[in-house]
Amino acid sequence: MKKNVVVAIDGYSSCGKSTLAKALAKKLHFIYVDSGAMYRAVTLYFLRNQTDLHQHDLIIDALDHIDLNFHSRDYQSHILLNGEEVSEEIRQMPVSENVSKIASIKEIRQAMVKQQQKMGRSKNMVMDGRDIGTVVFPDAQVKLFMTADPKIRAERRYKELKAKGEEVSLEEIFENIAHRDYQDTTRQESPLIRAEDAIILDNTNLTETEQLDFAIENLKPYLV
Ligand code: C5P
Repeated sequence: MKKNVVVAIDGYSSCGKSTLAKALAKKLHFIYVDSGAMYRAVTLYFLRNQTDLHQHDLIIDALDHIDLNFHSRDYQSHILLNGEEVSEEIRQMPVSENVSKIASIKEIRQAMVKQQQKMGRSKNMVMDGRDIGTVVFPDAQVKLFMTADPKIRAERRYKELKAKGEEVSLEEIFENIAHRDYQDTTRQESPLIRAEDAIILDNTNLTETEQLDFAIENLKPYLV
């Protein structure tokens, strides 16, 4: 049997990873998994339950009460936290401000990685995140490492949140992105780092179509 194809997309916050991942999955009829949504949903659970985020024991115990599921509609990934659709809520600032702290906890990462690896065992899939090419699927056929000018990234995210009616400032978003990048690259547990065999994609000056073409070009050898 032919081995399933996995595309791993990693990179800094708000680089357009999920936009590219979704477009790619749609074009190739692959499954799309947004691994960041999982860390965000777990964070939402803790915020709702007012768990003291300094108490690792409480956080780890709570993992037994968290059930995450994806359902896909039009290649938009929807995430269910204990059966409730939370896709919108996990994008809001309270979650963005706390997610990197939660994502740095070893036991949380282990639980998420296990679930992610299970999803990618038999299906063609595009998964985006921070450790997909390094830890989750080190054998992925294609690995992309995305980056872009931080100012451009903040502006893109600002427009996105404003369009949804969120009250946020550009400065607040810029700082959040910088802070998450710092936490994600300096944490002890599987920090964000480019896998040696990952191809760098700087999309500061690229359109979405150009990024998609770039990814398809690199995937061609695996699509026959
Ligand atoms: O991708 P997104 O920006 O939604 O991810 C939110 C946060 O989740 C990241 O800033 C990072 O702290 C964490 N994350 C991670 N590993 C992944 C995906 C996301 O640590 N594979």
